[in-house]
Amino acid sequence: MKAVVTGGAGFVGSHLCDRLLEMGYDVLCIDNLITGNTDNIAHLFGDPRFKFVKHDVTEYLYVEGTVHAVLHFASPASPIDYLEMPIQTLKVGSLGTHKALGLAKKKSARFLLASTSEVYGDPQVNPQLETYWGNVNPIGPRGVYDEAKRFAEAMTMAYRRYHGIDTRIVRIFNTYGPRMRPNDGRVVSNFIVQALAGKPLTIYGEGSQTRSFCFVSDLINGITALLSAPPSEEMAKPFNIGNPEERTVRDLALKILALTGSPSPIETRDLPVDDPHVRCPDITRASKTLGWRPEVGIDRGIRSTIEYFRKLPS
Ligand code: NAD
Ligand code: UDP
Repeated sequence: MKAVVTGGAGFVGSHLCDRLLEMGYDVLCIDNLITGNTDNIAHLFGDPRFKFVKHDVTEYLYVEGTVHAVLHFASPASPIDYLEMPIQTLKVGSLGTHKALGLAKKKSARFLLASTSEVYGDPQVNPQLETYWGNVNPIGPRGVYDEAKRFAEAMTMAYRRYHGIDTRIVRIFNTYGPRMRPNDGRVVSNFIVQALAGKPLTIYGEGSQTRSFCFVSDLINGITALLSAPPSEEMAKPFNIGNPEERTVRDLALKILALTGSPSPIETRDLPVDDPHVRCPDITRASKTLGWRPEVGIDRGIRSTIEYFRKLPS
């Protein structure tokens, strides 16, 4: 069995490459390294079943031989990344998804799209069920990511309906863990890095906005359960994969201060435009259909992420 992982040198993609190799797949990782890093996959370079190709997936994808699964994870994902690279983000969600689907079609491979809770925008329904259509501002700064992913879902469904390929869509909610970039600007990495450096923790707005944080190994369990399920119409519908334990950003800051033992103060900054007020996955479908539930609680997950950041060169 051979799997192609686009974005495989990123945070989530590299954990996915590890798991697919453990599951017995040969893995071809395609990444242009705009937000990823070969450090995330360096430990795999000696494995003859793993291959890395530096390539922009918005350009034609040529892969030799049989491919059983194409997992499309390439895309800037942190708000500071996609705000800095708006055109690349739109291109990888549209042209990149088209190329990845084209590869899956040519190889008669199963296709799995990494979508996002951002397709729900600033949701007016909480928790979010997969049947909710969302509340996205298409012309706001976050629209480049949200609309790219919404387009990617539409393109995936069109390829399924028109070309009959076997597709899966995972809507990933805020995920954290080892291999996040310390400077990726996301709230978990920012707070841990700030706490370890004794610098103020920067809360945007009042900190009353909520998020639901999923540890990366739980996310990978959910993705592989979805990938491995036999084809059916049910499997082609999007699945929320996330941890339904919802908390405020302020509560997260206090938790990280407690777990690091840091004396850092808390400071507030302006809330970014269109920052969602609430976010929490309804995971009923994933738990009933895939038998999946997250297993790692916030304390254990944050502790292991703190250990990862502590070991990084300063
Ligand atoms: P990441 O930035 O660490 O990884 C993305 C990878 O894609 C990077 O290695 C980057 O170099 C690569 N990439 C970007 N554009 C590319 C292109 N044109 N060609 C080839 N490679 C390209 O981000 P992540 O957190 O690992 O996210 C991975 C995927 O999961 C993304 O599709 C993201 O939208 C999705 N997702 C992640 C989260 C999360 O909380 N981490 C939440 C929702 C969705
Ligand atoms: N946030 C914050 N301080 C930071 C970074 C982020 O208060 O230093 C807030 C951000 O405004 C958002 C939440 O934390 O409300 C999650 O931000 P992140 O960038 O991790 O992901 P998002 O869910 O917005 O994509």
